[in-house]
Amino acid sequence: MKAILVREFGPPEVMRLTELPDPSPGPGQLLVRIRAVGVNPVDTYIRSGTYARAGSLPYTPGSDAAGVVEKVADGVRSFAPGDRVYTSGTATGAYAELAVCDASRVHPLPAGASFAQGAALGVPYATAWRALFQRAKAVPGETVLVHGASGGVGVAAVQIARAAGLRVAGTAGTPEGVELVLREGAHHAFDHRSPGYLEKAVGLTGGRGFDVILEMLANVNLARDLKALSMGGRVVVIGSRGTVEIDPRDTMTRDASIAGMSLFNMPDADRFAVHAALVAGLEGGTLRPVVGKELPLASAAESHVAVMSPGARGKIVLMP
Ligand code: NAP
Repeated sequence: MKAILVREFGPPEVMRLTELPDPSPGPGQLLVRIRAVGVNPVDTYIRSGTYARAGSLPYTPGSDAAGVVEKVADGVRSFAPGDRVYTSGTATGAYAELAVCDASRVHPLPAGASFAQGAALGVPYATAWRALFQRAKAVPGETVLVHGASGGVGVAAVQIARAAGLRVAGTAGTPEGVELVLREGAHHAFDHRSPGYLEKAVGLTGGRGFDVILEMLANVNLARDLKALSMGGRVVVIGSRGTVEIDPRDTMTRDASIAGMSLFNMPDADRFAVHAALVAGLEGGTLRPVVGKELPLASAAESHVAVMSPGARGKIVLMP
């Protein structure tokens, strides 16, 4: 099979398209023929070698893919060859034509969803769902600000929150991003590069503040988020690329909470619940992953530059 191989940590160019032997599933595993690969920011952190969870070399990047089951090994009863599936983790890497996956990391892909859409689910939609309901404990009728709503996690959060009956505001950094956020279901959208946008957003809550804020860039926004929360408000730190100074008093005066999350910490039982909800949302049409860019597998390096550049418009996907 053709696959991306990383032999040394470093810039995007360390990812090379290589011919590798086809992998073979062991007990409890499946072999998936990959039709689309989801590119996530965490793939770039791992590739650069700076991430705490960097694995051993050489390796094939990626956790998120969608495709068709090619083989099932002993002990797998939930899938059969020919099934359309998406993955939330692989044993051999997703940036490839074939991947071996543990059965617990494979989920059915409903007929109405394309492979490219399926590749957008594993990290972004699971993160958004966990942040909203398992970390922030959001309930229908509450207000949520998705701070960074134009990217993979943000679009997912907007669709999930809207379908659940929350009042949704989202932000993006370009006019196209703002339009996308509105189109995907936000009641209101703001440009996070325009002065005074957060005060305007809080104004929409009648000055009460947001019950929940999902934060994609906490090092830039966390201090101001705390002032934009309601009494009892919760901010979930999903993304952060540096340090930030906050006034702890802002949490005291509102009985507010800051909840961190990493999908790597999600227990199996929670993952099972999240993906059951996501599959139901895909079947019912409330969840519709937005693919912003499709590139060939050989352009993995380009995809890593793109996913770290401003101006997100949905998900970046590689097509083997
Ligand atoms: P993405 O597709 O690259 O999207 C990034 C988002 O951040 C875009 O909406 C971007 O908006 C927005 N952004 C840029 N500047 C911002 C600002 N000043 N304030 C608010 N938002 C801003 O990335 P993603 O896949 O959605 O992931 C988002 C972040 O969450 C990344 O840092 C990622 O590493 C992290 N993450 C964490 C977990 C976890 O388990 N904790 C899981 C998944 C992702 P514009 O481009 O329109 O400016």
